Amino acid sequence: MNAPAKSGITESEKLALRAKYLEERDKRLRPDGNDQYIEIKTHFPEYLEDPYTPLKPRDPVHDHVAFTFIGGGFAGLVTGARLKEQGVSSVRIIEKGGDFGGTWYWNRYPGAQCDTASFVYMPMLEETGHMPTEKYAHAPEILAHCQNIARQYGLYDEALFHTEVTDLSWLQDKQCWQVTTQRGDVFTSQFVGLGTGPLHVPKLPGIPGIETFKGHSFHTSRWDYSYTGGDPEGAPLDGLKDKRVAIIGTGATSVQCIPHLARGAQTLYVFQRTPSSVDRRNNGPTDPEWFKTIATPGWQQRWLENFTANQTGGMADEDLVMDGWTDLSRRIRERIQSLPPEERTPASMMAAWEDSDFEKMNDIRARVEAVVEDAETAEALKAWYRQLCKRPCFHDEYLDAFNEPSTQLVDTDGQGVERITETGVIANGTEYEVDCIIYASGFEVGTEYKRRSGFDLTGRNGLKLSDYWRDGMRTKHGTHVAGFPNAFIVQPTQGANLISNVPHNLTESGKTIAAIVRHALDQGAQEVEVSEAAEADWLELLLQGPGRMIGAQDCTPGYYNNEGQAASPGAKYHVGYPHGATAYFEYLRNWRSDGNFEGLVFRPKHAD
Ligand code: NDP
Repeated sequence: MNAPAKSGITESEKLALRAKYLEERDKRLRPDGNDQYIEIKTHFPEYLEDPYTPLKPRDPVHDHVAFTFIGGGFAGLVTGARLKEQGVSSVRIIEKGGDFGGTWYWNRYPGAQCDTASFVYMPMLEETGHMPTEKYAHAPEILAHCQNIARQYGLYDEALFHTEVTDLSWLQDKQCWQVTTQRGDVFTSQFVGLGTGPLHVPKLPGIPGIETFKGHSFHTSRWDYSYTGGDPEGAPLDGLKDKRVAIIGTGATSVQCIPHLARGAQTLYVFQRTPSSVDRRNNGPTDPEWFKTIATPGWQQRWLENFTANQTGGMADEDLVMDGWTDLSRRIRERIQSLPPEERTPASMMAAWEDSDFEKMNDIRARVEAVVEDAETAEALKAWYRQLCKRPCFHDEYLDAFNEPSTQLVDTDGQGVERITETGVIANGTEYEVDCIIYASGFEVGTEYKRRSGFDLTGRNGLKLSDYWRDGMRTKHGTHVAGFPNAFIVQPTQGANLISNVPHNLTESGKTIAAIVRHALDQGAQEVEVSEAAEADWLELLLQGPGRMIGAQDCTPGYYNNEGQAASPGAKYHVGYPHGATAYFEYLRNWRSDGNFEGLVFRPKHAD
């Protein structure tokens, strides 16, 4: 019997959806996985040049600072700010871009905006008194906010821009780090922090003939406004009005810039390998009167905790943010709550997740049909996978862009672009002649840490971090590594691992690191290091959890699941705290507040 399930989707529809998802995944599996992409640094270094800020000559630095942070994005800003609050005055941030901002420095493509609500995404709103102008702020506002944080906390004073670390070595005799950069700097630092971000090295698809194209081309993270016209504020791209433009890729970046390209270009070809799931955005300006009512002391922390609880399926009386991120979790929670307690088994919870996901993705697919006028284009824009298989996208104008007469979707049925020629792009056996190719092909994720950061760490007794992590990442809290004293890593894995709002992970890390450094200085300790036993205990705890919740092998390939390739044995460590993000943040707050910093060893200065 084909009885409707509680989701309103029949069992046979579910079987059909599961089969369709696998069929679509299988079309896209390819043996070369991550190797399908080429390293820009070696093949097209000109693509990495900074189009935004001219390089300022300066003398190399040879001195000593208390804290050096590598990366001037949110991680460096929030850690630097908390260190300053804790009275650590000598903080140097090293940044490869020409200013603070990280992701928001580089990504200035038209339409760039945050995908998680500004009120929880933009760090330190309460400290800076900034009211986000929109529910999802646009990139120029976020970049300016980064610069404001840096100004407010005096982080410009010692910052080194357009500077890349080439070596970071622990000097055992001096009990500090030696930092070497590509600009001739060699200086020492008592502590170092690493926050280079997960998505900062752009990548290009290794499409045959890519090097032969004679027209104009660039990657979205180095947008060439001198060619396209317009500006990051969204002025029309009038340089493209007589141009045929190809954009390759339809991920989160492309979803945001395509509406602008569709309006600006004479002809826009969108080369699609896998459609993104694009849910409603519902952006809108912030009402200052409403903001006054919410912005009472402690408001941002309350919002952060509320978003995290809602998004990760925790219990919360209300949903303050109410957006696409919390919607799926809300549906799952409601399903589980409707079950009698004795039926709330792990299997029924997984079924609730799957049912909610089918329902959600059916809505998203129905929206494509409702918005996109051409039926064939609409069909090709439907995403056939579970919502968290790939980065979920949210936009109110993306689908409409395909109704613009200028815009043509070139769907490749999972196969991608075949070849690039001197004059255009070949897909499905047809050549599309273009003046410009824009690569919206994303960033390196699955490649080795050392390749992405550009340097290795040499810790105690010459131990290289790349060797120490050869069989997988080993840390306590994702932050502390045995053998690497006075070094702190700021990123989500092995901590809260909250992907829907990465800045929440970073702000909690920043507070924690500042508390540890303050404690070390107060104790007169020269070194702080996690013990091997504490690190091992943490890893054991992590492995007790349910494993990776996103990027399953039955998902369509992408960076969430190592491009569909079998995960390396070390991937089992790419997880978060087993009890979830909310529990982790509470645990971490207690851990840093009780004054014991359990698992860390503080050591005094060597006797001279
Ligand atoms: P992605 O890696 O998400 O997308 C790359 C795109 O290029 C995919 O559509 C991919 O297809 C396509 N592609 C790769 N090779 C080929 C090929 N040979 N032929 C045709 N297409 C190809 O990169 P994005 O820059 O879009 O996003 C990266 C991440 O950055 C996001 O996942 C998100 O985390 C973050 N981001 C956040 C934003 C925000 O918060 N506001 C905005 C933008 C990005 P396929 O899917 O088949 O691999």
